[in-house]
Amino acid sequence: MTIDADRVEPMRVLHIETDKVLSPVIRRIVEKNGFSYIKVHLENITDKAIDYILQRDEYSAVILDQCVLGLVEKLINIMNTRGMIHPSIITISSQQDFNLKKRYFELGVMAHFDRENFAEHRLEQYLQTIKNELETVEFFKEFHVAVIDDSELSLDTIRKFFINAGTHNVDYYQESAEFLNSKRRYDLFLIDLVMPVYDGEALTSYIRKTDSEAIIILMTAYNNGQIIPHCLSLGANDFMTKPLEYNSFMLRIQSCISRYKMQKEIIYKNNELFEMAIRDNLTGIYNRTYFSQIYEEKLAAAKTGNQVFWLIMVDIDNFKNINDEYGHLEGDKVLRNFAVALSDSLPDKDTLYRWGGEEFIALLQPSDDKKTVYQIAEKMRVNVKKNNFHHKWNITGSFGMAKWHPADTGEKLFRRLDNSLYLAKLTGKDKIVCEEYLNIMENGRFIRITWGSFFTSGNAIIDEDHQAMINAANNIIDSYEYRAEQMIINKELNNAYKHIMLHFNKEEDIIKNLNYEHYEEHTREHRKLMAELLRLYDSYSREKSNAIDVIKFLVQDVIVGHIVQKDFDFYPLFGHEILKQ
Ligand code: GH3
Ligand code: MG
Ligand code: MG
Repeated sequence: MTIDADRVEPMRVLHIETDKVLSPVIRRIVEKNGFSYIKVHLENITDKAIDYILQRDEYSAVILDQCVLGLVEKLINIMNTRGMIHPSIITISSQQDFNLKKRYFELGVMAHFDRENFAEHRLEQYLQTIKNELETVEFFKEFHVAVIDDSELSLDTIRKFFINAGTHNVDYYQESAEFLNSKRRYDLFLIDLVMPVYDGEALTSYIRKTDSEAIIILMTAYNNGQIIPHCLSLGANDFMTKPLEYNSFMLRIQSCISRYKMQKEIIYKNNELFEMAIRDNLTGIYNRTYFSQIYEEKLAAAKTGNQVFWLIMVDIDNFKNINDEYGHLEGDKVLRNFAVALSDSLPDKDTLYRWGGEEFIALLQPSDDKKTVYQIAEKMRVNVKKNNFHHKWNITGSFGMAKWHPADTGEKLFRRLDNSLYLAKLTGKDKIVCEEYLNIMENGRFIRITWGSFFTSGNAIIDEDHQAMINAANNIIDSYEYRAEQMIINKELNNAYKHIMLHFNKEEDIIKNLNYEHYEEHTREHRKLMAELLRLYDSYSREKSNAIDVIKFLVQDVIVGHIVQKDFDFYPLFGHEILKQ
């Protein structure tokens, strides 16, 4: 339950003054503390002041400046005889007499101030107390209360109290079994300790099994010092002794509610702080810290339950250009809109996180299969493309998709995801690459791989060779696509074959010298690739197969399947960061 600020009546403080000395000070303090300030100037505080207060009794507090004792007595007496819930009365006087002060308190004045040494901070504290009390009363109006007591007299007394206090959501049970059968939930329980069948102790235990928040106040006619501590330890919040008297009853309830309210506010603030900690403040979606936490949980659940799940990583294409051309603020706007377009494309908006900069990540439900996830990624891709975030710039995104496999570590899965995204970037952007698999044809055209820092190992010889291999594949693709003569393609294939063979030998020497732990396995892979390449090349030269098979093999098996998936494993030997971010 929260406090609905709109429903709380505006809180007003009436200042009855005889001269203007303190008015500016009091006005400032009153308004600073969230009350509205109303002033009446009277030459002498006489019966007129009483009329004024009684006619308009909607004040939270009345400050009587230069007041007269007789007047205060009269005022309070009238209010008491009329049974009014009266405003808090604060008196200010130049007369500093201890007996006078005592009399004011006897009458029920909330605070008394010395006019000569007017303590501003004290007035401020009193106003805060009044405000808290008023808020508590408002808060209490929304409460659902259960009173369980076998004594009809007791129930009647409490009923009168609550009617007087304006609390109406109260259910009265004379039999505890009836309450148990109702199975209703309440915010406040008033329970008689000694009852037939189920007593206060049993009911407290019963309520606390399912509700740790509600307030439980026990009532007892026996001031039993033995049982009360036991009941408090079971989860009761407070106890009252019968017979109940209105003022102390209401005070007790209010104090319990104040504590309850404070606890609720702490929980609310904690939740707010938590939300702040897990949200990205530019886009409002979840941040990387929260992703890491959820990712760990997801991995643990996947391992124990063998539940497969997918990740989609997105990076805005050429985003730097937006910043460079239109400034950072414009860039921020694009980022926010981009995040909205992505989350709108997801079945569950809460599965999107900002990974950093202009990168986002979506963690899909375990029930989503490859086809569903691909459709979601495609919807994201199309949505960001058709959204006109920037009137002068067509904004697109590149996507990588990867699936959790039972043998995965969190890092391994991330590497496939990252590699997939990079491959999308290096083969033309505005596309989805799934599990590091490159389709060599897209929309009826061949792809080309662009060499980039993604491929660099830090070893000049290896990097030069790998770049040459990528160029060779692109050349073969060019020749084939532009229908070059068979002889030219043949020559290029021949070159590529020789080049790859030489490279494998050089690479083996390098990693052997560095004692690469998977050297043997890696060499075997090289042999297998060479054998397959020879077979394909052979059948191509005898025109038994199409050049497409060779292109496919070079792109999918050599460049992605070997360089990206196998060579990258030994890059750390050259001090290379695997996860480029
Ligand atoms: P690519 O297509 O290869 O991804 O190119 P790109 O320009 O998108 O990538 P690059 O990594 O070169 O640049 C990313 C830019 O994103 C650089 C950085 O200034 C900008 N950026 C990162 N975070 C924010 C941000 O919160 N606000 C703004 N306005 N720009 C950001
Ligand atoms: Mg980018
Ligand atoms: Mg290799």
